[in-house]
Amino acid sequence: MKCFFRNDEDLGPSITIKAFNYTFGFCLCHRREDRCVKFLGLEHIMCSRCLGIWLGYLLGASIFTMNFRIPIQISILMIFPMLIDGFSQNFGFRESNNILRIITGILFGTGFASFLLAAIVHGI
Ligand SMILES: [Zn+2]
Repeated sequence: MKCFFRNDEDLGPSITIKAFNYTFGFCLCHRREDRCVKFLGLEHIMCSRCLGIWLGYLLGASIFTMNFRIPIQISILMIFPMLIDGFSQNFGFRESNNILRIITGILFGTGFASFLLAAIVHGI
């Protein structure tokens, strides 16, 4: 099995996995121009939601390695604002904005990383 990461100009960041004579590809971000924060060239790499999620993963992993534990109930609650923001926008109830996408993405990433690391290290 082989796994490749690449940042294609047209496709964006993607992962390609070759296993058992099959090739699977995963596009990691749509990079819609209106949903990207134009800062330090990040708009060429990922959208504001993905930026928030990855910052959250980094924050959650950092918090975990510093032996600070977010209670599991709080970790799960931190996931919901992004789900509510994303689904309410997806179903046309409202339109989100890039600041909200980053904030809810950071909450999601931090909560998800804390939950996942706690589950891996301590079990649930
Ligand atoms: Zn994205």
